[in-house]
Amino acid sequence: MATDYYAVLGVQRDASQDEIKKAFRRLARELHPDVNPDPKTQERFKEINTAYEVLSDPQKKQMYDLGGDPMGPGGGAGAGAGFGGAAGFGNFSDIMDAFFGTATQRGPKSRTRRGQDAMIRLEIELKEAAFGTTKEIQVDTATVCNTCNGEGAAPGTSAQTCDMCRGRGEVSQVTRSFLGQVMTSRPCPQCQGFGTVVPTPCPECAGDGRVRSRRTLTVKIPAGVDNGTRIQLAGEGEVGPGGGPPGDLYVEIREKAHPVFQRRGDDLHCTVTIPMTAAALGTKVPLETLDGTEEVDIRPGTQSGQSIPLHGRGVTHLRGNGRGELVVHVEVQTPSKLDPEQEELLRRLAKLRGEERPLGQFQPGQQGLFSRLKDAFNGRT
Ligand SMILES: [Zn+2]
Ligand SMILES: [Zn+2]
Repeated sequence: MATDYYAVLGVQRDASQDEIKKAFRRLARELHPDVNPDPKTQERFKEINTAYEVLSDPQKKQMYDLGGDPMGPGGGAGAGAGFGGAAGFGNFSDIMDAFFGTATQRGPKSRTRRGQDAMIRLEIELKEAAFGTTKEIQVDTATVCNTCNGEGAAPGTSAQTCDMCRGRGEVSQVTRSFLGQVMTSRPCPQCQGFGTVVPTPCPECAGDGRVRSRRTLTVKIPAGVDNGTRIQLAGEGEVGPGGGPPGDLYVEIREKAHPVFQRRGDDLHCTVTIPMTAAALGTKVPLETLDGTEEVDIRPGTQSGQSIPLHGRGVTHLRGNGRGELVVHVEVQTPSKLDPEQEELLRRLAKLRGEERPLGQFQPGQQGLFSRLKDAFNGRT
């Protein structure tokens, strides 16, 4: 063996791959023919090129370390093939990196990629949101093709190394520029950068490794979800190309409008309309709550716009314990049609109360109405 490849690169025998690569890059930058066209330098450049080709390849390095010559006849790639030759391709990208700092990911890209996340909307009733539920949902997502197990090749066939790029996934080209010869790499047009081609694609998935299919999933919906809450189901999204790992599935909650209750946060609001007499005398009104029928106690002398909170009858807090309240807003109805007897009775009542010609009380602006709305919103009386 004539050449000491370690000496050529100026590294120790126990140098790491990283040290070997660094040494090579430094020398390549110094000795590249574009920089230094002197024939002696070019000879030296070929040497470091060959040395790096051996020492950067674990198999060749091992062979060399054991006393063999991986660059000799039958030892693999021919030594000193130089620019444009097929043999040295492994180094060219490193040379380019050394020159232009284009330390991008090299080599063939994988056919397998992670799938995308998917999202579906799910409509639920208020009661389901308040207490939680379990739902069956139908999802249409990409799943692994069973015919080819995600490989993309027809049964009995397999992907083959691309002969255009020899499995590298990229092809290099020498062009002339003002710098001299410049090597450029681009994804291999024959294999789209995968390094392999599938001669006979799977007929089921056309080589994609996945097919669309409909599945039924059971989703546990926690108590307290609201409009727009997203429930994440890990790994239930789209399977990736080439049978890659699936993304996640998000179930977005849509809460159906309730005929009686309006939800604000975890509180529920409703309005009960009672006659004037009931407001004055007090009454009990049955209300169908989420927990069943309850009697709402209207105290004698209740005013229109007053609200009655029913504690713990709202929606369960999603985080933490307890529930919101159910706020019953009272609206007092004034009779609009009176028969003569009713009118007579009311006139008597007015006289008894000294209200035949009431002065009334005016508030500035619309304050009365607004404050009542505000109180209703805050759930206060
Ligand atoms: Zn298939
Ligand atoms: Zn190719």
